[in-house]
Amino acid sequence: MVLPRDFDDAHARADSLSLRTSIGVGGRPRYLFEPESEEGCREVVRLCRASGVPLHVLGGGCNLLVTDGEIEGAVIATRNLKHFRVFDDRVEVGAGYGFPALVRKAIDLGIPGLPGCPGIPGSVGGVVFMNAGGRFGSVADALSEVSGLDHEGNVFRRFIQPGDLGYRSSPFAGCLVTGAVFRRDPAQTPEMGQALHRKAMTWKRDTQPLAARSAGCIFKNPPGPYSAGWLIEQADLKGLRIGGAMVSTQHANFIVNTGEASAKDVWSLIMLIQAEVKQRHGVDLELEVQTWA
Ligand SMILES: Cc1cc2nc3c(=O)[nH]c(=O)nc-3n(C[C@H](O)[C@H](O)[C@H](O)COP(=O)(O)OP(=O)(O)OC[C@H]3O[C@@H](n4cnc5c(N)ncnc54)[C@H](O)[C@@H]3O)c2cc1C
Repeated sequence: MVLPRDFDDAHARADSLSLRTSIGVGGRPRYLFEPESEEGCREVVRLCRASGVPLHVLGGGCNLLVTDGEIEGAVIATRNLKHFRVFDDRVEVGAGYGFPALVRKAIDLGIPGLPGCPGIPGSVGGVVFMNAGGRFGSVADALSEVSGLDHEGNVFRRFIQPGDLGYRSSPFAGCLVTGAVFRRDPAQTPEMGQALHRKAMTWKRDTQPLAARSAGCIFKNPPGPYSAGWLIEQADLKGLRIGGAMVSTQHANFIVNTGEASAKDVWSLIMLIQAEVKQRHGVDLELEVQTWA
């Protein structure tokens, strides 16, 4: 197949995703695009669609497990989509804007929920797609509108309705989120935001391996009273290693890269954990981490 010239540039630009994922594993995509505008994204989506090339969306790479070796198709990275505009009642942010920076600004801007999300790395597009959050706040607390492109490259704008966002789920599968709008609440003072941020940060630091290379929680918490981390810990799997991948000794739902882990090491550990937890507790653990084969 003869590919348009843009693909040659995108091929030359493609580097290893181990450099772009927080866990530090993953191979090289065949093509890498990094558009600087929604229009640029649109061209990439349409080009890939017309050429039959599968397209993956890369945000901050903080909840991703990418296979070793070459990744079939193209990757579109959102890191150049970084607009940030403040209005009286809302804040409009580009998908490539860093979520930790937004969380810090949310304290003074009175964005509900977000001050309770420190220690959650990634991009705004990624946290919208994942509906990221935790016990002290989540994206769903303040997200009012999302703009993006559907799989054919058509621009959409969606006002968030009750029920759109669930536990680590959103209606944006197969889409490219290009921007998001978060509401401001005049009743939320900076002091309130600061207090929530401090409380959430203390809890995160005490319970999760924030300094290690990981992809965040590997498994979703299953329905029922027990968290995935608790089930793994009770199966005596903390500290278990395969190659360079290890079940965190601090939080059993994190797998950390101790040095030279490969995606294969991480996958093997995931499958071992699933088998042990099934045998020990009769529970099927479902992946939270997103995977590119
Ligand atoms: C130390 C650590 C702690 C963490 N703690 C938490 C936590 O407390 N709570 C929590 O929820 N998560 C947590 N995570 C996971 C991670 O921070 C979130 O899942 C975050 O949403 C990932 O965003 P990202 O931009 O890095 O997405 P990526 O990892 O790049 O992508 C994740 C998924 O989102 C898709 N995606 C990314 N950007 C877009 C876009 N613009 N449009 C459409 N799809 C897109 C990707 O295709 C992929 O399927 C943690 C991770 C780490 C490493």
